[in-house]
Amino acid sequence: MCKYERNELCPCGSGKKYKKCCGAFNITDFSSQVINRELDRLHQQFVSFATNKHDDTIHRQITRYATRDLDNDDMNQIYESGLMIWILLNVACLQRGQTLFDAFYHTYQSQIEHQAKHTFSLWGHSVPSVYEVIDIDEASSQLFVRELLSDTAYPLPMAEGETFKHGSLLIGTLVPYFDRFNFFYSIVKLYAYNKENVITLLQHYSSKDDGLKTHFPDFLAEALSLETDADDANPQRGQVVQLFANHMVDKDISDDIILQGIDLWNDYCKQAKPSFVKSESYAAALEYFVQKTILNNTSMTQGQVASEYDASPGTVSAHYRKLSQTLASNTTP
Ligand SMILES: [Zn+2]
Repeated sequence: MCKYERNELCPCGSGKKYKKCCGAFNITDFSSQVINRELDRLHQQFVSFATNKHDDTIHRQITRYATRDLDNDDMNQIYESGLMIWILLNVACLQRGQTLFDAFYHTYQSQIEHQAKHTFSLWGHSVPSVYEVIDIDEASSQLFVRELLSDTAYPLPMAEGETFKHGSLLIGTLVPYFDRFNFFYSIVKLYAYNKENVITLLQHYSSKDDGLKTHFPDFLAEALSLETDADDANPQRGQVVQLFANHMVDKDISDDIILQGIDLWNDYCKQAKPSFVKSESYAAALEYFVQKTILNNTSMTQGQVASEYDASPGTVSAHYRKLSQTLASNTTP
């Protein structure tokens, strides 16, 4: 006995009649567990297909969209990992205008579990956007995000060990699963950026032809060089926050500490109004300051933190002295 009516719409969401869709394969299991497990598998298979078989194509695209706006390696790495999301799903970089997703879908479609096929096919239409973290539920491992343009909220599963900061902005592409969404491939986390500036930028690029589907690289490069404050004329100050936060997240330092560090940096900028070209040495000095004064980490050396940020130990040391002199009044009650 089948619980699905042959002439009703297929539960897989394809819009076809059940008898002409999954019914033709005698499929009766439409549990989210089965379908989402298949989508997770396709997610992995697609990424390894693209990165292994089309490594050269990806590399050519990355070179093509390389930008000189971002002046250091860490920021460029963040930019390139963000580009990957877009290159895999949205760029018609193969013969006959196919995207890497199209190529994968056409090659492997006969091997896709039928009830997951329709949902998976929609991934090819997904475009990057910006999401704000509005809630984090550790107990149920769920993250709640809100898309900045549409104001739509999405609950997302949170992988073990992932940390998110309340109110931070994420750039990524949400792809549909059976009864939920998830981010495709990876996300770019923006820390302490002025939300209004990001919204303005997002609106600007979204209103152009094809929106972020076409203009994502320009948007991403600009988003990564935005000022933290409306009256902050030095985008490098924002990059310090981004670099510092990325390094701290990598070390599993809690959001709370990261936020305190960002607050200290903003205080410092207000008081000292630093102007500089390279962000790494200031980011390294900020981490060293936070490690010493907030985390009471006495084992970390200035040389160590300088090499982690690829900065010169002398400059880090000089910046650290300025930071601690200016912030001394803030940290001693
Ligand atoms: Zn179906």
